[in-house]
Amino acid sequence: MSETRTLPIRKHIALVAHDKKKDELVEWALENKELLKNHRLIATGSTGKLLEEKLGLPIMKLLSGPLGGDQQIGSLVAEGKLDFLVFFWDPLEAQAHDSDVKALQRLAVAWNILLASNRTTADFILHSACMKEAYKIAVPDYSKF
Ligand code: PGA
Repeated sequence: MSETRTLPIRKHIALVAHDKKKDELVEWALENKELLKNHRLIATGSTGKLLEEKLGLPIMKLLSGPLGGDQQIGSLVAEGKLDFLVFFWDPLEAQAHDSDVKALQRLAVAWNILLASNRTTADFILHSACMKEAYKIAVPDYSKF
């Protein structure tokens, strides 16, 4: 039997992009600024700095991804403080912090939060009617483990 958690109307959205995917994330965020401004935005260091400059929206900036930012986001996921992770990772280039990247993706799946690794998925999720509502999700009861 699963536990549940309710994602609030104003969702906590983390935005992360590897270097060669940052332009794409900025472009997507600019296109969707009107929707994104209804939510609380969080980002890894460099992604957040860039997005704040281009979007002009407040963004909670964590450490740079390779220096612990991915892990900080992972900890928000594990604590039930993140609802949607937009993570444009680079499929064509190895990352020095690949273990952190994998760990973050693993936690997002383990805690059943919204997860978009590319623009099409990010679009579908952000434009979903469920984004405007409080929405109950199942989370595994890990206390049994
Ligand atoms: P960055 O981190 O936003 O600090 O570049 C992204 C990442 O996790 O690689």
